[in-house]
Amino acid sequence: MKIGVPKEIKDLEFRVGLTPAGVGALTARSHQVFIETNAGLGSGFSDEEYIKAGAKIVATPQEVYAQEMVIKVKEPLLSEYDLLHPQLILFTYLHLAADRQLTEALIKSGATCIAYETVQLDNGQLPLLVPMSIIAGRLSVQFGAHYLTKQQGGSGVLLGGIPGVRSGHVVVLGGGVVGTEAARMAIGLGARVTILDVNLTRLGELESLFGSRVQLLYSNASNISESVISADLVIGAVLITGKRAPTLVKRELVRQMRSHSVIVDVAVDQGGCIETVRPTSHTQPIYEEEGVLHYGVPNMPGAVPWTATQALVNATLPYALALADFGLEALNCDRTLAKGVNIQNGKIIYPAVAEAFPDL
Ligand code: NAD
Repeated sequence: MKIGVPKEIKDLEFRVGLTPAGVGALTARSHQVFIETNAGLGSGFSDEEYIKAGAKIVATPQEVYAQEMVIKVKEPLLSEYDLLHPQLILFTYLHLAADRQLTEALIKSGATCIAYETVQLDNGQLPLLVPMSIIAGRLSVQFGAHYLTKQQGGSGVLLGGIPGVRSGHVVVLGGGVVGTEAARMAIGLGARVTILDVNLTRLGELESLFGSRVQLLYSNASNISESVISADLVIGAVLITGKRAPTLVKRELVRQMRSHSVIVDVAVDQGGCIETVRPTSHTQPIYEEEGVLHYGVPNMPGAVPWTATQALVNATLPYALALADFGLEALNCDRTLAKGVNIQNGKIIYPAVAEAFPDL
C-alpha cells in the first residue's frame, strides 16, 4: 500500500503520525511510505532518518494525501479538507462529536475515516487513547510541581518536603489511567497523595497497586471538600465515557484552598471537573482565579512530542500494519479496529457521532 504522513499543521503540534521505526516496519513488508519534508522534526526525527528507514520525502501535503492511506496525529484542518478523496483511508485522532464542520467535510470527502480515539477493545479499553492519558497523568504532577514554585506564582511548596517539614498534599480526582499515573509520579516525588473515585472496584485495584502509600477515598461531596481544602495540588482526572465531565469542585471550594495552590484539570478536554477551570494553551497555560493557579491545557502530550510520538506509534502501528496489509478488509477481521470507523462512503458510521449530528 502507498501511505502518506503529513506535517501536522495544528498550532504548536509537534507530534507526527509515524516514527522512522514505524516506517521501517511498513517498508519491510513492501509498503511505500511518503513523508512530508520536516514532518518529524518537532519530535526529533530528521528526513534522513526516515529515508534510511525506506521512506520517500515529498515536498507538499498534496503528494501525501494522494496516497491510499494517510496516518497522522490530529484531525485534518480546513486547508486539508480538499485533499481528502474517496479512495483514502484516514487514520488519526478525530474527536468528531465536537466538530460539525469537520464531520461535514469528511462526509463530503467519501474517505474511510478511522478515529484513534474510538478504536476499542472488547473489554471497553481504548488502546490508542491510553498512552496519551499516561503521558498527561505523569505531566500533571510535573507541571503542578513547577507551578507551585514561588517564581511561577505558586505557594512555594516543595511536594516532596524534607525531613522536618511536611511534604505537599496532592489530591487526585478520578483514579483511572490519568489519575493512577499522576499518583505514581506524586508518590515518587515523596508527596502525600489522596485519590478519590466513585468506582469501588477501582479503589480496590489502587490499593493493590500503591498499598498504604496513598489515601483512597470514595468520591462524595464531603470527602472531596475535606481533601481539596488541604491540597497543595489538585489534579482533575475523572471521565464518564463520552459525556461532559461532572463538576466535582465548585468555585466556593476553590476559594477555600490555600492561597496560590495549583489546580491541573486534565479532564478539561471533556469540559473539566473544576468549576473555575477553562481551556488554556501551551503558549499561555496558566491563569489565576480565586487566588489559585489553574492549568487547563487540553493537549498536554504535545509538550513532550519526542515521547508522545513514540508512545502513539507504539500503539497505532499494529493497526496501521493491518490496514496496510489488508486494506479495508482489515476492518472485517478485527472488531477492535472496526470500532474506529467513524465515517465511510459519505455516511456517519459511529453511533455517538450520528447522535451528535442527527441531521447529517
Ligand atoms: P479513565 O476512564 O481511565 O478514568 C476516569 C476515572 O474517573 C474512572 O476511574 C472513573 O471511575 C472516575 N470517575 C468517574 N466519575 C467520578 C467522580 N464523580 N468522582 C471521582 N472519580 C470519578 O479516563 P482517563 O484516561 O484517566 O482520562 C481522564 C480524563 O483525562 C479524560 O477526560 C481524558 O480525555 C482526559 N485526557 C486529557 C488529556 C490532556 O491533554 N488534557 C490527555 C489525555 C487524557
